[in-house]
Amino acid sequence: MPSEGGLDQPVQYIKGVGPKKAALFEKLGIHTIRDLLLHYPMRYEDRSQVKKIAQVEVGEFVTLIAYVRSSAAKPRGRRGGVFEAAFADDTGFLKTTWFNVSGKAMAARFKPDSEWIVSGRVEINRYSGAKTIYHPDTEKYDGDGSLGAMGRITPVYPATEGLTQKNIRAATLAAMEHAGALEDFVPEAMNKRYRLPPLADAVRLVHWPATGVNMDDLELARTREQKKLIFNEFFLTQAGLALKRKGRNPQRKGIAMDAGPELIRKIKSLFPFKLTHAQDRALAQIAGDIIGGERPMTRLLQGDVGCGKTVIALAAALIATRNKKQAAIMAPTEILAAQTCRKISSFLKDTKVDTVLLTSTSRNRSKTLEQIKEGSAHIVVGTHALIQEGVEFADLGMAVIDEQHRFGVAQRAELMRKGESPHTLIMTATPIPRTLAMTLYGDLDVSTIDELPPGRTPVHTRMYGKGNRAQALAMVRDQAREGGQAYIVYPLVEESEKLELKAARVMFDHLKEADLAGLRLGLVHGKMKSAEKEKVMADFMEGLLDVLVSTTVIEVGVDAPNASVMMIEHAERFGLSQLHQLRGRVGRGSRKSHCLLMADTFPGSPAWERLKVMEKTNDGFAIAEADLTIRGSGDFFGQRQSGFPEFRIGQILRDHKILAEARKAAFGLVENDPHLLQPEHAPLFRAISKWWAEKFSLGSVG
Ligand code: ADP
Ligand code: MG
Repeated sequence: MPSEGGLDQPVQYIKGVGPKKAALFEKLGIHTIRDLLLHYPMRYEDRSQVKKIAQVEVGEFVTLIAYVRSSAAKPRGRRGGVFEAAFADDTGFLKTTWFNVSGKAMAARFKPDSEWIVSGRVEINRYSGAKTIYHPDTEKYDGDGSLGAMGRITPVYPATEGLTQKNIRAATLAAMEHAGALEDFVPEAMNKRYRLPPLADAVRLVHWPATGVNMDDLELARTREQKKLIFNEFFLTQAGLALKRKGRNPQRKGIAMDAGPELIRKIKSLFPFKLTHAQDRALAQIAGDIIGGERPMTRLLQGDVGCGKTVIALAAALIATRNKKQAAIMAPTEILAAQTCRKISSFLKDTKVDTVLLTSTSRNRSKTLEQIKEGSAHIVVGTHALIQEGVEFADLGMAVIDEQHRFGVAQRAELMRKGESPHTLIMTATPIPRTLAMTLYGDLDVSTIDELPPGRTPVHTRMYGKGNRAQALAMVRDQAREGGQAYIVYPLVEESEKLELKAARVMFDHLKEADLAGLRLGLVHGKMKSAEKEKVMADFMEGLLDVLVSTTVIEVGVDAPNASVMMIEHAERFGLSQLHQLRGRVGRGSRKSHCLLMADTFPGSPAWERLKVMEKTNDGFAIAEADLTIRGSGDFFGQRQSGFPEFRIGQILRDHKILAEARKAAFGLVENDPHLLQPEHAPLFRAISKWWAEKFSLGSVG
């Protein structure tokens, strides 16, 4: 067996890879032979059966060997350049079409009579009725099939300019002789328990599947070999999380508090409504953490906008105050903090609990600070101002962070440092599937509110193109006439704040004078002073304005129950989760509400598909899943969450069952051997030290 060391040799060691190719492999992040082995195919083509053109049927995915008989480039139209080529073999010919391409470049590539391997799904052209493959995959056919790339299932790799599939296939094939040197950090017994094949076999067969493997299984990553590699990836990250969780401030005890059924019942009686089942469940989980008292609670509470998280935060705060401790609730903006404070005060008006507001513009700041310090302020609601120097709590027992994605990890830690190991509750309105939450917030416990309070009417959502803009504006006018209110939101254009501002101002003036003349309009933009902004927002919330035009995203969580229209300009520029957040601003009262997505798209385009999701569902989880599938986890969580692990082969949504298994296995292993001291856990220890520690730093809040 070759030694592991061989794996860390540079790719140039592989036959056929010289300095020039090595530089191209570098671009793909491939430096060593190990990297090459872990450069898994992104998909496969079944070339075990090459079809003749005469045999192809509509709807079928086919691979052909054919030559270019004729081609035509059409000038740039609405969809960019169109390129058409007719491919032929000895039985007939078949059309292929590309949109949005440079006709010149395509014509240079597909020269008459050149031979190609063409694959794709056969469809019917709507206009001509001819069988057509749109955007087929093509590869130059060199007649020999020497790599075994024909007549079998062939891997297709992520590639880069200058490096062909053939190059990559040759390199990975040559690297296969080193596969046996890969060390499996999953202990043998565990492989047996989960029926996982040996690692080296899995690597070989994932690159070059055996003939006869079901293509659907391969596409969906359901083969035994794929499962093994996915399991390994997830297992490593989960073992890292398990260790981190085990090692989390072991010396810190949680603050012991009474959170028994009697207290919870009393707290619930303060609300003018019955909690939903989901709220009840979340509150019971919080109480359970606190009663346990082994260590401080670190719980994430997630749920769609309007599901009633703030109410649960208040309940958590009240558990603390009833135990003679203080609670702090930190919100990302002044508007939100003020609103939360108002709401809480109204729930607590018949109690002796004192709620104060602390922001950077607070009047009576020194008095408020004094109250916090001596403990006469029981619940402190505030912004970042809460974590500034000079803010001292008498005895902080519960720290709540609202809209966690707006804060960095460091800021969360700051708030916690204002007390002695206070319990913490972190809230987010971008709900994500449970399996994903486990991975992303691995060392937090997660509660999910998956139910809205009764009496909400779902928001009706529709796309509007240029052609029916007038109709959308008519909707705004009608709703205003009937006593409703509307938001009109413009996307934030980061490159040019000035331009954006101008556009919004021009639009604002225009709307005011023309389309929405006679209505009371207000404008909020990022360049306004916070006091001015608050004034306009407050006017809107009090019903002194009919329409609020906003250049920035309207503050998450703002509650104007009378608002019934959300009109979003250039909706295609927003992410789905963002659109869903915006939509959550309306439909808060009993009035039937509408979300108007203004976008110039055409059916079938990616933007159209995305916005279609908004039309189809109001379910934040479904939208988060769709967003995640479309954008990938990296984009979804954005820069701030960049510690999120990227997997090479595992996909959290598709492979959630394997993730759950790997998690269970990893947590079980760490439970039994918390320091990975057993000899059979040495490879795992090495792998984690090497890879995990540097890559993953998320979720650490304590
Ligand atoms: P979130 O913070 O999750 O966006 P909120 O806590 O602000 O949601 O609740 C949204 C609205 O629903 C508030 O006006 C709140 O008083 C109300 N609400 C919360 N829970 C319930 C419930 N169980 N029954 C009726 N109304 C509720
Ligand atoms: Mg809220």
